[in-house]
Formats: sequence, structure tokens, C-alpha cells
Amino acid sequence: MIFGRNKKILLVEPEFPVVNKSKNHSNFLPIGLLKLASYCRYTENEVQLIRGNKAASFYPDQILITSLFTYWSFYVKESVSFYKSRYPKSEVIVGGIYATLMPQHCKEYTGCDEVFIGQHEEADKLMPAYDLVDVDYQILHGMRGCSRKCPFCGIWKIEGLNFKNADELNKEICNNKLIFYDNNMLVNPNIRDILSMLAETTYNGRVLKCECQSGFDGRILSRNPDLARLLRKARFTNIRLAWDFSYDQYSEVENWISIMENAGYNRRNIFIFMVYNWDFKYDELENKRRKCFEWGVQIADCRFRPLDQTFDNYNPKVKYQNDNDYFIHPEWSDSLIRKFRADVRKHNICIRYKIEWNNYDKKQERIHSY
Ligand code: SF4
Repeated sequence: MIFGRNKKILLVEPEFPVVNKSKNHSNFLPIGLLKLASYCRYTENEVQLIRGNKAASFYPDQILITSLFTYWSFYVKESVSFYKSRYPKSEVIVGGIYATLMPQHCKEYTGCDEVFIGQHEEADKLMPAYDLVDVDYQILHGMRGCSRKCPFCGIWKIEGLNFKNADELNKEICNNKLIFYDNNMLVNPNIRDILSMLAETTYNGRVLKCECQSGFDGRILSRNPDLARLLRKARFTNIRLAWDFSYDQYSEVENWISIMENAGYNRRNIFIFMVYNWDFKYDELENKRRKCFEWGVQIADCRFRPLDQTFDNYNPKVKYQNDNDYFIHPEWSDSLIRKFRADVRKHNICIRYKIEWNNYDKKQERIHSY
């Protein structure tokens, strides 16, 4: 993918529809590009990172553009067009999630010169070039891939399953705030050693604080409840648990919440992940939401889009859209999607600020906006 030395390599994150204040949020940091930046430097190439479509400070030999969700393909196409017209002699390569899931579409639709599929093995071993971004945290991968094969998820298709151990992770720590990008952290066979290491390790004389971007797998927690205490000792916050299956199994989810509470977590700070606009109908999701309200936990809602969906123009500010604008599951409708989303916002504010459902005033959304 990257040839020779002393080349000028431009790394580009397209102008994804992320508000500026969230660009450096841990959910959106272009970690793959930061690792490629380290690899470029390691191989004695000059590198520049651009977030958006702007002129570079040099004429690049190669332009490596990342991609994220397939439904954000338009922004990748925009970047390819921008950089190809600005630097017609440069080779433009697109990698990342969309490129890996839909390489043919990516090549034809964006007009790039080459598609890079999968992860860059050598770059993945290197520390991301954090000096290129302004963040106060570090992203770590204790694992890649996932042992499960949930039908709405593409992780198991794009990443092979592998795990790191506590020593390997310990050597990577260079910040007190760690964000784990692990897809299913608790499935790691080394998880107990890792959590104990995180609990005991200090950096610059201060303890570590941890967060896992994905939901913890409650089925593993219920078989190994000691993991909840280890998570607590390792100072994991913003706990998310994934309730991907039906309403009928709510007693299992209730048990996971109790396990976390017994380990010292306040249930009001626990989020339950839910996929909506998917095979489970609105009524089922609404029952799940109501159960969560009864339990006093928050919800992290995730609107489903198919893995080959190439556009998403959902706009929360307009009153009505149809499936020419964004993917609407046959069992759902635009109004049900908006209603569910609005109720989840209301739900979370009520839980966080201990407001009765019937005493909720919409103005509180502005006051407690998140
Ligand atoms: S457990 Fe999570 S990461 Fe793994 S396949 Fe299911 S949704 Fe994807």
C-alpha cells in the first residue's frame, strides 16, 4: 500500500457529518489514520493529517482516505473528488470500514485509484500518532473482531478475532484516560489479568481511568459476576450493557444490572444498548424501554442501517422523511422512529435528573441537552 521511503503521504479524514465539537470525541477519532501516520514515519515518509477537504502543505505522492459507515460513502466520494482535482498526479487510496465492506462499490462510486481492504497489519502494531490530534485520552484495542455473529453487525466480517494480554497492553499505556475500542471486551481470555493490571497500573504517578466504547456482554457477566468488581476496581465508567435480544428475556438483563450495582455502580449511570429500526417491532422496543425506565437505567439507542446502505440523510429537525432519505425497516415507519428516539431522550433526562415521566417538560431537553 505504501511504497518506498521519502515520500509525501497525505492522510485524510473526509468531512463526515459530525459536529465540530465532537470531532475529537473518542467515538470519532480516526485511529486507523493515526496508526498509519506512525507507520509512514517509521518507514521514513513525510506525513500530514487533514480532517476535511483542505489544501495540504505539500504535493502528496499518495493520499490515503479513510472511510467509516457505508451510509457515509458520499463524504468519501466528496473527498476523493476534492483531492483528485487538487492533486491529479497523486495516487488516491481509500481504506476503512466502508472500503472493506463494499470494495467494488467504493472503487466505482468514489472514483479512487485503489481500495485497501481490511487492517494494515504493520501499522496496527504501532502506537497512534497522537501528536497529530488534540485529545486528552488514549485509545486501546485489547481485542479485534468478535466471537459472536450478530446479524445487524459487521465487525465479525471485517476484523479477524485476536486478543492481547495484560503485558502487551501495559506496554502501550501513555495516558491516564484509556478508551477501549474492544467490541466484546469480556470475551478476552486474558480479561482478569487485564483488569487487574489496569487497577494497579499508574501513569505519571496517577491511577488510570477506563471506559469501553462498546457494550459489555451481559451473558458473560452473569456467568462470571466477579468481572463486575474487577471492572469497578479498574475504574471503568460509563458502563453500557447490550440488550440485543427480545423483551421476553428481560429478567436476564435485570440480573446484569444487579451484578453491576452489587459491584458498586449506580444504576442511573448504566446505559442499555438497544438497536431499533430493526427486526424487533416498535412495540417490543417500547416494552424494553419501559422496563429500563422501571429499572432506572438509561438507554443508548442505535438506529439500524443495513451493512450495504450507502446513504443516510435522516434529519431529526424535519417533521417527515421517507425511505428515499434514509433506511426505514419494513416493520417501522418514519413517525415510529422519531417517536422512539424522542422518548429515549426524554427517558434519559428523566432518569438522570430524577424527573417523573408525567412531569417532564420538553424545555428540559434544552436545559439538560447531551
Ligand atoms: S457482540 Fe457486538 S461486536 Fe460482537 S457481533 Fe454482536 S454486536 Fe457485533
